[in-house]
Order: sequence, then C-alpha cells, then structure tokens
Amino acid sequence: MYQQFQTHLVKELSAIQQAGLYKNERILISAQGAIVQVLGGKEVLNFCANNYLGLSNHPQLIEAATQGLVSHGYGMSSVRFICGTQDLHKQLEQSIANFFGTEDTILYAACFDANGGVFEPLLNEEDAILSDALNHASIIDGVKLCKAQRYRYENANMTDLEQQLQAAQSHRYRIIVTDGVFSMDGNVAPLDKICELAEKYNAMVMVDESHSAGVVGNTGHGVTELYNLRGKIEIITGTLGKAFGGAIGGFTTGKKEIIEMLRQRSRPYLFSNSIPPMVAAAGIRAFEMLAETNFLQNKLHENTRYFVSRMIAAGFDIKPTQSAICAVMLYDAQLSQLMASLLLNEGIYVTGFYFPVVPKGQARIRVQISAAHEREHLDKCIAAFTKVGKELNVLTE
Ligand SMILES: *Cc1c(COP(=O)(O)O)cnc(C)c1O
Repeated sequence: MYQQFQTHLVKELSAIQQAGLYKNERILISAQGAIVQVLGGKEVLNFCANNYLGLSNHPQLIEAATQGLVSHGYGMSSVRFICGTQDLHKQLEQSIANFFGTEDTILYAACFDANGGVFEPLLNEEDAILSDALNHASIIDGVKLCKAQRYRYENANMTDLEQQLQAAQSHRYRIIVTDGVFSMDGNVAPLDKICELAEKYNAMVMVDESHSAGVVGNTGHGVTELYNLRGKIEIITGTLGKAFGGAIGGFTTGKKEIIEMLRQRSRPYLFSNSIPPMVAAAGIRAFEMLAETNFLQNKLHENTRYFVSRMIAAGFDIKPTQSAICAVMLYDAQLSQLMASLLLNEGIYVTGFYFPVVPKGQARIRVQISAAHEREHLDKCIAAFTKVGKELNVLTE
C-alpha cells in the first residue's frame, strides 16, 4: 500500500511547491528575542515573533522556571484529574483569573486545545455558534467538533452579525465567538458592539485573547479592558505562548460554572497531560510582573506608535492597527516574498503573507513589534524597509 500512498504524497508535495506555498522553516541557534542568531551564525533583528512583551527570554521568567523545575520536578506524567494537579497549576489559574477579572480558569496544553475543547461540552444540536469569518483555525476546528449549528459572519461586520443573530433566534442557546485581535490585519474585534447585539438578541459572547492579552488596552489587559467589559464576557480563551512568556500552554477563563463543566467534560483537558511545573511557575511570575508595573505594556505601545507613524511617513501602505501587528501592504505575493528576502539581507527578519493565508491580492509583510525592541532596532528596521522599498518601488510620495 505505502508505495501508492508515497507516490500520492510526493505529487501533492510538489504541487504545494509549484504553487509557491511550501513552508520552509528557518533555524535559529539562539534564544528567542529582539536579536536572534540564524543557522550559520548571522545575527538578525526579529520582527516576526509573538514575543510582544519581550518575556520569551526574560531573566525573571528563567529564574522562576528554574526554581519551579528544582522544587516541583520536570514533568507531571499525568492528566490533571488523576495526579497531574500541583499547587502551581492552581496558582496559575488564579493568576489568570485575576488578570482578566474573571471567576475561574482552566489550563490546557495550548490555546489550540482550549478552543478545541470549549464548545462540545457546553452546547449541542439545539444551540447556535456565531463565528467571525476570520477566527483562528483552532476556533473553526472546535466548532466542527460540536453539534451546534454554525453561523458565520463577515469579519467584524455588525450588520452581518445582526442578520445571523436574527436567523439564529429559534435555537436554545446562542454564543458569538470572535478573536480579540485578528492576526493578519491587527484590527481589534468591535467587542462593545458585539456585546450590544448579544444583549439585544439574547446571546453569550466568547473572545479569544491570544493576540490581544498583554497588548491591547491601556494596561494591556486585552480587549475587555479596551472596551470596559472586564468580567462581563462569559468565555475568554488565550495562550501562554505569545505575550506571557511564549513557552506553551493555553487557558479558558470566565464564568465559574462554565469552567467547572469544562473540568468535567472537556476532552483535551481530560485526555491530555498537565503543563510542566516550570511553565506554570514562570507563568505565575509573568502575571506577577505585569501586576507590579505597566512598564513593558507602555514600552510596547510606545514602540508600536513610533514604528507605525515612521513607516507611514516613509510612504508605506499600512493597515490601520490597534495592536502590535503592523501589516505592510504590498498586494502582490511574489513581491512580498522578494521583499522579505531582501530585508533579511539587511538583517531584518520578517515574513511575507499571501494567499491562502490572506485573501488573493492582499499580500503583505506582517511586522510584529515587541517591548524587547529598543529604539535603535526600530530605526534599523524602518531604514531597511525604506531602502528596500525604494529599490522595489513600493513607496508612495
Ligand atoms: C496563536 C493562537 C492560538 C493558538 O495558541 P497556542 O497556545 O499556540 O495553541 C489560538 N487562537 C488564536 C487567536 C491565536 O492567535
């Protein structure tokens, strides 16, 4: 059998390559940070990590992880409900609830699992899920695993959401699901309006704060801070893999009965291992740090404002952003690839995105700003973009 299957795979893989959609991985030989070393030893400035607060290699998190490793061991060898719950896991769940102003939290191995395991235990075929068209793949998969009826509305389009809500009125329960920040444009979901519609049409709300927590809002507490909706959203999911240290781990936080039910029925929680003690220990420290001072959030906001305003002044076409994601629009897929590779020659590591990751004709380079970036890093990046942008004739006067 395998020979036929192998032929099939080789053909499919070469089709991916032909279409220019083959993903190659660049190997880093250093820790994650503002400056990374790539294979061969070249140092480049990193503008494509989700390391928003610069915590991925922060000395305080390394110290906390080391202490956790020594005091609580390396692994748990168990799921939470058998013998996989330590004091550290409970403390981290409390820290996350405090951060979001929610009632309780449940940890997962990743946010992919949190989203995969949130719908099926709570809703059935009598219910409706109204999901933004640009929601993360893990939300789409989670919805598929649930028997509830699915309604899809255009990205952040409240007219469409209202129509879908009207169409979904006959269901028992309704929930509107949205990313907090959409990762390709950097736009924030209009959560205030979503909540108004939820109120009007009797629906619950779930928001995935993966790209927004630690970033959006005056003190970086996410979209619920931005819209003054702290504690009002039924379900928030998020990741420890982006702003909060970037290691691994996800969570669902919100109403306590919802969390309680997930602990009883959510399959990725019941049938998958606990997060490692050192990750829990470092996570606790990350939330402590963010409770002590807004220094990192403020620096990130300042960096983002500086970068975006200078790039616009330089003549780049930048998508309006309310996050630390800055989409430099090029519209042409090949141009985005060429530009990213020329920028790498200049010591700037960024990634071009094109169809099918973004719509056809919407190719871009996505720049992600971090609190780990110093002003000189930003200036170097802007100078490199400007130089390459002139060469490729993509600047407007
Ligand atoms: C990154 C991301 C995830 C996945 O998070 P992991 O913890 O890496 O699995 C889920 N949802 C959204 C919106 C994300 O951006």
